[in-house]
Amino acid sequence: MDCIFCKIRDGVIPSEKLYEDDDMFVIRDIDPKAAKHYLMIPKRHYKLISDMTDEDAASFARALRKIPALSDKLGLGGGYRLIINQGDDAGQTVFHLHVHILAGQPLDFPDLKK
Ligand code: 5GP
Ligand code: ZN
Repeated sequence: MDCIFCKIRDGVIPSEKLYEDDDMFVIRDIDPKAAKHYLMIPKRHYKLISDMTDEDAASFARALRKIPALSDKLGLGGGYRLIINQGDDAGQTVFHLHVHILAGQPLDFPDLKK
């Protein structure tokens, strides 16, 4: 399978893992859209929330609940925003489910109807 996040998970493509456990790992986004932009990537490969098994959902919940404990390390103290792009209209480009973590500045809420 030709998945960039699986390759980063496996160390085939080098990328600094800022945090890693059995459920997920956190890396910096290569093309940051905010002062701080990380990706929280579940270790198991699946594309969409609709593809999650019960086990994936439990793992994902553990991963989400870990984020506040990483606040100091990632510099999330001023607040942060989580984004999960799903499918074409959302502009998903990597088809391994991941959570964007945006922080480090006041974040405008985009009005995409403009
Ligand atoms: P999506 O558009 O699928 O929600 O987000 C994919 C994200 O992965 C993009 O923000 C993109 O910049 C990031 N990305 C793509 N390839 C790489 C890579 O090789 N390394 C890292 N660190 N981020 C990547
Ligand atoms: Zn993958």
